[in-house]
Amino acid sequence: MSVQLTDPVQSLPGIGPARAKRLEKLGIADAGDLLLWYPRNYEDRRACASVREAPEHQPVCVRAMVATSPKSSYIRKGLELVKVNVVDDEDAMELTFFNQSYVRTALSVGQVYIFFGTVERKGRRFSMTNPVFEAEDRQRFTQCIMPVYPLTAGISNNLLAGAVRRVLEDCAEQLEDPLPPEVQRQYQLAHTGYAVRTVHFPPSWEELEVARRRLIFEELFYLSMGLAMLKGSGQKQAGPPCSYYDPSEYYLTLPFTLTNAQQRTVRECFADLSSGSAMNRLIQGDVGSGKTVVGAACAWLMAKNGYQSALMAPTELLAEQHYHTLAPLLAKSGQRVGLLTGSMRAKEKREIYAALEAGEYNLIVGTHALLSEGVTFQKLGLVITDEQHRFGVGQRAALAAKGGAALRPHVLVMSATPIPRTLALIVYGDLEVSVIDERPPGRQEIQTVLVGEGKRQQMYGFVRKQVREGHQVYIVCPAVEESEEPAPGFMDLKAVTAYAETLRTQVFPDLRVGLVHGKLKAKEKESAMTAFSKGELDILVATTVIEVGVDVPNATLMVIENAERFGLSQLHQLRGRVGRGESQSYCVLLSANRSGDTLQRLKALCSTNDGFKIAEEDLKLRGPGDFFGSRQHGLPPLKVADLATDTRVLYEARDAAEALLSSDPGLSLPEHRRLRERIEQLFEEHKDTFN
Ligand code: ADP
Ligand code: MG
Repeated sequence: MSVQLTDPVQSLPGIGPARAKRLEKLGIADAGDLLLWYPRNYEDRRACASVREAPEHQPVCVRAMVATSPKSSYIRKGLELVKVNVVDDEDAMELTFFNQSYVRTALSVGQVYIFFGTVERKGRRFSMTNPVFEAEDRQRFTQCIMPVYPLTAGISNNLLAGAVRRVLEDCAEQLEDPLPPEVQRQYQLAHTGYAVRTVHFPPSWEELEVARRRLIFEELFYLSMGLAMLKGSGQKQAGPPCSYYDPSEYYLTLPFTLTNAQQRTVRECFADLSSGSAMNRLIQGDVGSGKTVVGAACAWLMAKNGYQSALMAPTELLAEQHYHTLAPLLAKSGQRVGLLTGSMRAKEKREIYAALEAGEYNLIVGTHALLSEGVTFQKLGLVITDEQHRFGVGQRAALAAKGGAALRPHVLVMSATPIPRTLALIVYGDLEVSVIDERPPGRQEIQTVLVGEGKRQQMYGFVRKQVREGHQVYIVCPAVEESEEPAPGFMDLKAVTAYAETLRTQVFPDLRVGLVHGKLKAKEKESAMTAFSKGELDILVATTVIEVGVDVPNATLMVIENAERFGLSQLHQLRGRVGRGESQSYCVLLSANRSGDTLQRLKALCSTNDGFKIAEEDLKLRGPGDFFGSRQHGLPPLKVADLATDTRVLYEARDAAEALLSSDPGLSLPEHRRLRERIEQLFEEHKDTFN
């Protein structure tokens, strides 16, 4: 029976119900899924040599005949040795296998096998330990470039390689190619059948490159197509018409003078807003660069023009904080600001809905609650999202769709994560970008140090010193959400609570220690945060809920426990919670982990305060999948493409996607049906990771 792509894996030889279950954990249910399970690496097993000529320290394939029947012995309980002698034309060699009893029956005297391993020599005596072997006439895993697959318990590499090989034999020709032929021709891409076969079993490195390029292109092409389709045609659409007002009138209401970079960004935004086209702009600015007042300037201009604005923040805490800064600020211009969060009581919410619909608020600040069904605006003209990468692409669109009016509102995105260019291209696509590359005056560089567990007492001493000088301290612990599996180094919320308790009762019994984490009731969270920002707490123990936006200028020390658990960009965000006032601020990274990688990452953080440098480093070290932290951004994951290195292919794929979409915007031509289905399926599968 020949295998079909849609056959369940159980129909393949060697895969029973137990193994099928394990494969399913990897997301492999049918034969087609197996083909998409790409190797993570390869082992070159092509070199062959005789026993005598085999190179030192380098594994090769040796053709030899089994000369003695395998002898097994136990050197201690649980450690079995099987020894076999083999010969080639000139020499004899002794093979040793550890704990592989099946070898006793798998090797027969007089038979010729290919053994892949490193030949060791002592004088004229040759030996090999734990070689891979197979009968000369049934070669599958020797004398080839062997794929090395990502594995799970109970599934061996040979099992996967064997199953993939079987499926390829029967199905490689069945694979339909969703890429339009003209795209394949123009960008000189290999056919899908060839690419898939070759990526699993490459005859040579050169061919592997050709195959990989095709797969990388395909992946980035789908991504570009999908994003472009989500965003619409990319042509400039008309936006809510606005008149220009001189921003200096707004500046007069501020307690400080804006930096040049802030003023430039305000001018760029105002030009967009009054241009007649819909604004689509990203403000990138490192933590503390002062994005909020710039966003508020836009809301101010919209209100002058009779429009409402909405500012969506990723957490309640942040929404509340924005509300507390912006309400008094805009009140000076006679504008009203409202707050809407998920944890408000139904009655409060209803009142806010009504006020919004009646146009009583000029700006509404809120969380995802802004997307609720009940929310309608009288005249929504501008949508601002803060820390946008936390939101899926779809959500931005959902909020914008609440405009009510015929015209799509202007969109402004503020991000503190300095996104490397390649990623910005993917995630933000056609957004215009303003960069606030200047800090408000008087800020000092944060000093960052990395210390091991041995310095814990000294760290406590330093905390005490900061508090004695009248400052406040954050202590951040990595914590898991309840639904996630605890990983080493992460604390569950119980552990965080216990740690806070120890600090309160034993380490700092004389200081005021508070705790916030994501699972507290909104009221409790707020009261702890408010207490901290009013200076009623000396130390705030927190999980990453404080990561974004929280602003307490008197806090001068950020201690991060198990720092190796966080991504660099995330650490940089956390560190940005201090250094917001005039006093010298510090960040102490605690890490017991001394592995080379970890050290390199954490040292990068100690050596620079430049968020862009850190983001580039993060992308290099961890890849884009992790870039956004544990939260997904609603895009399908990349399996072969690497945004840090495949920039050239990314540009090509973008060009190809744009060209195709301009000739067939909705992919409605029959020859593009497969392609459309593929893209819809990819984006559909990951829709629920939008957050
Ligand atoms: P972020 O860009 O990280 O969102 P914020 O908008 O929260 O930064 O601003 C950080 C702090 O700096 C706030 O307390 C804000 O009031 C203050 N700030 C912003 N701009 C200036 C400025 N030009 N001069 C002095 N302080 C400023
Ligand atoms: Mg902010």
